[in-house]
Amino acid sequence: MDTKERMKLEPIPMPEADMSERLAGFGEVNRGYSEELAQAEAERCLQCKNPPCRSGCPVDVDIPGFIKLIREGKYTQAGLKIKETNAFPAICGRVCPQERQCQAQCVLAKQGKPINIGYLERFVGDWLISHPPALTERPEPSGYKVAVVGSGPAGLAAAGDLAKRGHQVTIFEALHRPGGVLVYGIPEFRLPNITVDSELEALRQLGVEIRTDVVVGRTLTITDLRDEMGFAAIFLGLGAGTPIFLGIEGENLPGVMSANEFLTRVNLMRAFDEDYDTPVQHGRNVTVIGGGNVAMDSSRVALRLGAETVKLLYRRTRAEMPARVEEVRHAEEEGVIFEFLVSPVRFLADNEGNLAAVECIRMELGEPDESGRRRPLPICGDGSDDCGCWRASESVGATGSAGYEAG
Ligand code: SF4
Repeated sequence: MDTKERMKLEPIPMPEADMSERLAGFGEVNRGYSEELAQAEAERCLQCKNPPCRSGCPVDVDIPGFIKLIREGKYTQAGLKIKETNAFPAICGRVCPQERQCQAQCVLAKQGKPINIGYLERFVGDWLISHPPALTERPEPSGYKVAVVGSGPAGLAAAGDLAKRGHQVTIFEALHRPGGVLVYGIPEFRLPNITVDSELEALRQLGVEIRTDVVVGRTLTITDLRDEMGFAAIFLGLGAGTPIFLGIEGENLPGVMSANEFLTRVNLMRAFDEDYDTPVQHGRNVTVIGGGNVAMDSSRVALRLGAETVKLLYRRTRAEMPARVEEVRHAEEEGVIFEFLVSPVRFLADNEGNLAAVECIRMELGEPDESGRRRPLPICGDGSDDCGCWRASESVGATGSAGYEAG
């Protein structure tokens, strides 16, 4: 097939679970490519000599290289090709923002049809999990011990790279389960825990030890690690687990929760599962504040917990939303209602002191800020009833409300 013919091929969409199935539980929405679909998508790649897609990848994966191996049916080699620079293809294929990174740089993006690099990466990542390659010899031991504090994406990536260089790596995780934000933050319908566990197992095969329930700074100190346990280096991959609140009136009302707490209770502590007794508030009318992936995750989790309405408030417009395009689409398909150019100014309580409503003001976009996105500005800022600002109490509902602040 020549280049012109390849350019005429249409992108292969990701198979997805039926809507009835999606909202009935926490099963994964994206079902993954079959071999046939992966082959068809791989056929579209032009195998560019100077591939711009690669420069869009933060870890410099040889993208045309692994796609060529898929085309040849060499799926294990394709997976190992990715693993040369990225230890977790099954995870990254699911959660990396490819449309802003590698796929944004693909030469076919100009026609609106970039190669679905993330879907292909996921395919070979899952292939390696279901067809684990024979163990290769471990690298020559360096003689150094390295401690990695935190088992989220940063800690796991560091541990993988260090182990490949022959260092003896121990990961210390404060929670009872390793994975950090991959297990406490990202819901199962986007990243199943079993996928994270499989990638962790591959890390163990490299010789990495993972110790859970160890709070470095409490259970062990940095001095203990260095002076008594003999670690030559310590990598701190502590994550960004502390929520940033808005600092507005009513933020401490029962019913207002950070997305971090909400998602941790549901994802890690399995509050959605009746066999677990983790408490979590089930809001009937839920408001989520924010426009990133965490906001999409919170909205979709709230729907799955039985919310009748879920409204997402974002102070800019759709174009500035930092969430992955696919997550925004999934949220909308599932019934999340988006309100753009609004910003909450206070949470209102009912007679019993519980959250009853969120009061917002209307925004407009000004000049770009330091992030490059246009700065949201209040249209008037005084919040008075006749100023055009928006009082959300009627639509949020007087009882059974919950608000999740996703930042
Ligand atoms: Fe393939 Fe697109 Fe990369 Fe070219 S830029 S090698 S077409 S993925």
